[in-house]
Amino acid sequence: MMNGCGDGNDMEMGAVSGQSQDGLMSREKSALEGLVEKERLLDELFKLEEEASRAIARASSSKALAETATAVLGKRSTLSTIHRQVASLQPEERKEIGQRLNEVRQKLDELIAEKRESLSAHEREEQLEAERMDLTEITPSFLRGHLHLVTLTQMELEDVFVGMGYKVAEGPEIETDWYNFEALNIPPDHPARGMWDTFYLEVGEPESVLLRTHTSPVQIRLMLEGELPIYAVAPGKCYRRDTADARHIPIFHQIEGLVVDRGITFGDLAGTIETFTTAYFGPRIHSRLRPSYFPFTEPSAEFEITCTICTGKGCRTCSDTGWVELGGCGMVDPAVFSAVGIDSEEWSGFAFGFGIERCAQMRHQIADLRALIENDIRFLEQF
Ligand SMILES: [Zn+2]
Repeated sequence: MMNGCGDGNDMEMGAVSGQSQDGLMSREKSALEGLVEKERLLDELFKLEEEASRAIARASSSKALAETATAVLGKRSTLSTIHRQVASLQPEERKEIGQRLNEVRQKLDELIAEKRESLSAHEREEQLEAERMDLTEITPSFLRGHLHLVTLTQMELEDVFVGMGYKVAEGPEIETDWYNFEALNIPPDHPARGMWDTFYLEVGEPESVLLRTHTSPVQIRLMLEGELPIYAVAPGKCYRRDTADARHIPIFHQIEGLVVDRGITFGDLAGTIETFTTAYFGPRIHSRLRPSYFPFTEPSAEFEITCTICTGKGCRTCSDTGWVELGGCGMVDPAVFSAVGIDSEEWSGFAFGFGIERCAQMRHQIADLRALIENDIRFLEQF
């Protein structure tokens, strides 16, 4: 509508120019020109307001908006040009245009402020989104290892015996021939030494120092301490010249028990073995003793436990007997007591020993004992 008026004014202006040349009085001419100029400026302001509003709405970023604001309100803007032109108008027209000019400027100022706020809020959100740390992301946790199955088994066995009132004793892995053999009633020419043909060390007399073949030397050390009675287990590493196979490894762990007290009988030994067996393997697994021979015990027995694979029904592992051998035991031989200075008329006792690896093998049904020393994480992390 205003645009239409503007077009009309332009034509009028042409007519006015024509009239001025026809000699109209300069005051009238000036009044008319002022009116025309006012209309033109109002029209221009209207167009400016519309265009600038659209430009502000179109700005897609704070930077673009700042450029638009400079173009719309800056020194070189149409608004400033109009502002300068207002100065040449008559006071009355100047006031009207001035008012309108201020309205437009104020409106554009408001539009820019609103737009600036919405743009910066939006940009802040975008930045937050871009820099966001995803706290819900699951990262793999630090891999912490755990104790080896053999260590775990040893600790559990110790617990079983500590629960029965035993103490845990330790001794050196390098022993003298006397502790490892002679004190245990195995003199140099004894055939039993063949069972333990072992690793000798080049220290002192030839074949006088060796890696212990069993933890039995700890029993000798305990008895030599002279503190009676004794209820102790001795766990630890042993060394034998065995070729590694499914049931043997040359470095293995044993746990031995020794009891020395007054009035200890074979019945106490059998009861202790049975108590240990059910405590460690569970109530379905039992023990039995079979006569055997060891130089340091008399009488001696091998102890067997219910086959853990078939729980006694008979299978290939137990050769259909329902029983598997676990260790050896017996009443302490009086010759051993006399070697350590204990009066066998007053004191009696029993000893037993078995492999810790064998124990773990039976409880966890490990087909090949060598898996325990191969360090395959897929095997080890199962326990
Ligand atoms: Zn079986």
